[in-house]
Amino acid sequence: MNFSKAVGAAKQVVDKIDPQHPLTPQKHKGPPPSDIHIIWITGGLSCDGDSVSITAAMQPSIEELVMGAIPGLPKVHLHNPVLCYEVGEELMTYWYMAERGELDPFVLVVEGSIPNENIKTEGYFAAQGTNHETGQPITTCEWIDRLAPKALAVVACGTCAAYGGIHAMQGNPTGAMGLADYLGRTFLSKGGYPIVNVPGCPVQPDNMTETLLYLLYMAAGKATVIPLDLQLRPTWLFGKTVHEGCDRGAYYEQADFAHEYGSPKCLVKLGCWGPVVNCNVTKRGWMAGIGGCPNVGGICIGCTMPGFPDKFMPFMDEPPGGSVSTSLVKPYGNMIRWLRHFTNKTMNREPKWHHRGNRLTSGYHPTTYGPPDGGSRPMAGTQR
Ligand code: SF4
Ligand code: SF4
Repeated sequence: MNFSKAVGAAKQVVDKIDPQHPLTPQKHKGPPPSDIHIIWITGGLSCDGDSVSITAAMQPSIEELVMGAIPGLPKVHLHNPVLCYEVGEELMTYWYMAERGELDPFVLVVEGSIPNENIKTEGYFAAQGTNHETGQPITTCEWIDRLAPKALAVVACGTCAAYGGIHAMQGNPTGAMGLADYLGRTFLSKGGYPIVNVPGCPVQPDNMTETLLYLLYMAAGKATVIPLDLQLRPTWLFGKTVHEGCDRGAYYEQADFAHEYGSPKCLVKLGCWGPVVNCNVTKRGWMAGIGGCPNVGGICIGCTMPGFPDKFMPFMDEPPGGSVSTSLVKPYGNMIRWLRHFTNKTMNREPKWHHRGNRLTSGYHPTTYGPPDGGSRPMAGTQR
């Protein structure tokens, strides 16, 4: 999709948000819901890595969300096949209840990319649960069709669900795509909200739980409509580039580049795409503020981006734009680095008047007392 089409589609979505909807905070009329359910489909094409990732969340943690530790929220019931106790038919009960409208309101989270079930001649690509009448698997697409229109909000967790990710690479046999490709970029949930994409391969744990927290506050009437960018990502999480928050940014500015792994310098020559990738892990870290790919020695491969992975391959080669920008930054960076090195050497020494002995050499010139010639004066306890 070209830029103007994307802007048009996004504008359509924003225009469609109904300010009169009962769950739009400014117009909230009824009492906020006491309970809210999260139906989390992991049956897309995925590795379940996003579900595993959020177990590392700390701001807030998944435990804080589900155990009522955060004031002002409805009670949260999480139904995630990887994380909850129930399995098999017992777990699927919640899917059927949501479909029948018995879990309202619920947030639908989709993890994994969506295969195109229309292109195969037999079988299925992805499914969850069994149709009791036919004995056949219920495909993930069917679950999305059944539940998305009934959900208060719909969230795509991880890059596979957001944009297709690895399964949607050129040459794939499943026709895989992201949730917004499947439902349409102008899809609005029952709550009147666009799809919320929280990309990452896997998703950064706190990015996901913080987005859920925001949606829960929205449902409770305590937050305004979630701000999203043109790629439907929360703007406060994806508004800056990796490079803008990178611990190694100063090396880039001084044209000091790593040529092998293990170096603390800027990794752009080793294949880092950070300067053009929207992601906050260099600022936020991965867990407890620690980590964040380039901060800890890994190149950024653009895993949060709609064009991932094809547009960033081959990984570990210098990005095409990297050689241009590093060539341009070199003359300035090398000169500034030399000047700073020189100044640093000077600043890194103590002044020469810090010494023992019986003479003061600090340049002290008394104006109201002391020797009339303004010369050095005896140190305390010494004779002239
Ligand atoms: S390592 Fe990557 S993100 Fe960090 S300064 Fe270098 S190019 Fe930018
Ligand atoms: S820094 Fe790059 S590779 Fe790492 S999580 Fe962010 S987008 Fe993905």
